[in-house]
Amino acid sequence: MSDLADRLQQLQTDALAELAVAADAQAVDSLRASLFGRSGRLTVLVRGLAEEDPAERPATGKVANAVRDALEAALTARQAAIAEAEGAVPLSGEASDMSAPGRPWRVGHLHPTMTVERDLREIFHAFGFEVFEGPEIETDAMNFEALNIPPDHPSRDLWDTLYVAEAGGDPRQPAADGTILRTHTSPVQIRAMRALTPPIRVITPGRCFRYEAVDASHGFEFFQVEGLVVDRDTSLADLKGMLEEFARALYGEATRTRFRPGYYPFTEPSVAFDVSCLVCGGSGCAACGRSGWMTILGAGMVHPAVLRAGGIDPEEFQGYAFGMGLDRITLLRHGIPDLRLLMSADMRFLEQFPAGR
Ligand SMILES: [Zn+2]
Repeated sequence: MSDLADRLQQLQTDALAELAVAADAQAVDSLRASLFGRSGRLTVLVRGLAEEDPAERPATGKVANAVRDALEAALTARQAAIAEAEGAVPLSGEASDMSAPGRPWRVGHLHPTMTVERDLREIFHAFGFEVFEGPEIETDAMNFEALNIPPDHPSRDLWDTLYVAEAGGDPRQPAADGTILRTHTSPVQIRAMRALTPPIRVITPGRCFRYEAVDASHGFEFFQVEGLVVDRDTSLADLKGMLEEFARALYGEATRTRFRPGYYPFTEPSVAFDVSCLVCGGSGCAACGRSGWMTILGAGMVHPAVLRAGGIDPEEFQGYAFGMGLDRITLLRHGIPDLRLLMSADMRFLEQFPAGR
């Protein structure tokens, strides 16, 4: 027997001994690589066959084949035994446990404010309202003048406006063409009156913008839902009945409500609509300022000047309107202390609302 044949047989003995102590699939794999890899121990020895004495070469070649077959069989058998011990089913050469639980998927979900918006759409849909949407960029004429707020009207101070400036211009100063970011969704009411024929029942969900210093309860960007009803013989009593139904649908049958006098230039009379405190139920707590009440929206009978701006004859039709901030309703629903969290896009916060509610 040649020297090379001896070394091949010695390698088989050594490798089988190493295989016997290979504890897991990874150890078997690395042993396989150390033998059969490009510069593996067996590969290098087999390469030596080329320099073998031609008289010895056939016999040594046979030994080499036998060693290779024996090692491959031993490695495969050992791998199967380890897989079986680990409870895995060998599949296309790899060990896979078909009964292992899957990796969880990260599934996205609605932002809590959008969940509130959808809930409101659903509630008002049941009351016969359709959704009417308008643009976020409006004109001063639509955002203010059509809503009974002329340029010199003192109530303009209520709406700190972001103007769409020309390039390099100051967004706090009106542009020549009067383009602004809408400060409320009320201009959509004008659009709805101009587009539809009474009886009109619409809600106008959407995003609004104001030039505000951002703090725990103010943002420069926020969401509103307004409602508008225009019909013959519509009254404040209709408005009150509708809002009471709405409050009970949103907050439960036990919810108590009240009207307080309010002021808006586009409604006359105007009211603030309160619900019994969502935290204490009405007995008085820090959240409601000890009053037992929380204001959730403003409302009123549509001002005749606003009806006229919408192309509606106030002698023939009356209307009521109401508007609420979605962000405030979302904060109250979840007991969130700071409005900025809603706008933060912070996953640690958002992941706390997986089912929406
Ligand atoms: Zn309270």
